[in-house]
Amino acid sequence: MPFIPRFTLRSLAPFRASAKRVPLRRAGAMTIAALFALMLFEPAHAQASFDGWKRSFWRQAYAAGISRAIYDNAMHGVTLDREVIAKTDNQAEFVKPVWDYLERVVSDTRIENGREKLRENAPVLYQIEKSFGVDRHVVVAIWGMESAYGAVLDNHKIMRPVVRSLVSLAYDGGRYKNFGRKQLIAALKILQHGDVDPAHMMGSWAGAMGHTQFIPTTYNAYAVDFDGDGKRDIWGSIPDALASTAAYLNSSGWEPGKTWGYEVKLPHGFNYALGDTRKKRPLAEWAKLGVRRTEGRNFPRPSDEVYLLAPAGAKGPAFLMLKNFDVIKRYNNADSYALAVGHLADRLRGGDAFVRNWPDGDRPLNDDETKRMQSLLNRRGYEAGTVDGKIGSQTRAAIRSYQRDVGMAPDGFASFLLLKQLQGD
Ligand code: CA
Repeated sequence: MPFIPRFTLRSLAPFRASAKRVPLRRAGAMTIAALFALMLFEPAHAQASFDGWKRSFWRQAYAAGISRAIYDNAMHGVTLDREVIAKTDNQAEFVKPVWDYLERVVSDTRIENGREKLRENAPVLYQIEKSFGVDRHVVVAIWGMESAYGAVLDNHKIMRPVVRSLVSLAYDGGRYKNFGRKQLIAALKILQHGDVDPAHMMGSWAGAMGHTQFIPTTYNAYAVDFDGDGKRDIWGSIPDALASTAAYLNSSGWEPGKTWGYEVKLPHGFNYALGDTRKKRPLAEWAKLGVRRTEGRNFPRPSDEVYLLAPAGAKGPAFLMLKNFDVIKRYNNADSYALAVGHLADRLRGGDAFVRNWPDGDRPLNDDETKRMQSLLNRRGYEAGTVDGKIGSQTRAAIRSYQRDVGMAPDGFASFLLLKQLQGD
């Protein structure tokens, strides 16, 4: 449905002024009448349709076990949030390199504030570690990433009533419609459970709530009451929020006493084709291939199964990832996010920045640039396959062959500088 802006009195003022200057007052009056029809009829129609939807959604809520009183109370006076709808379109593809992201989110301020939070909350973090076996530094790192240790919760431009956001997504959220409906039912269940009332159930435009930004389904599955007041209050209780995060990581398979990964140094002439995130090998095998920790120490537990991740190819840091890296990704399924959480956790513990620098001035390619690279490789006989803008195994192999031929480390990384070199050749 197209968005019909509601004219405010202020935006109407110029029309009024110009109407007065029109000699044929009747024509001017008609224009204004037509405008009023637009103003009043369309939004009223849209409002009727929205109210009708709210009434009809009751059937789904009822089927999910929600009581009439909870439903009516939650839905009372809820209006469509156009800003939420607008967010669903705002998914432009950014090709920001992971290192720009890391620099922004693992900032000195965030490290400093996190160390302060570790000190402030030491007793409860000790209890959380004892109960769920999850490293306190990782729990606090997630807290820092999700809400800047709760600071974001006071930002009223970001935090909005969850029911209103989810109703808006469920009604008119495009590809977020099903997500909105599912999360709305889950949110009503939270209200019915009595953990929070609608006025205090605040979250992001997509319904992520509280200190550690749980969406309602995650909340229902994993949130815990850790301070013992009978409510799972991830908005107001730091013990509840942090314990809920630890409970979630624990249920996702967190392996106690282990880290998320190791920064490693790859040997000269390393076969980058081994860097496949779906292909795990024991640490002992990587060591045999000449892969070493940058810290110089040996790998503990040589039998741990790990995979190689080199987000910037041969010109940046490389990592061997353990099971806990994938557990962090259950929170947010992006390598960049999990790398940031893992690294922030290490920094909070007193660890250093990565040893290897990220490449300066380089970045991954967007779809159009990838297509250009594919056709350039094809033209030179490197058989990158279909020019589709997707980096599959064939394109990667073609890049490696080209890199080998020109004497570069064959990492298969489709980067901006490599494209520039191909264009210049
Ligand atoms: Ca509580």
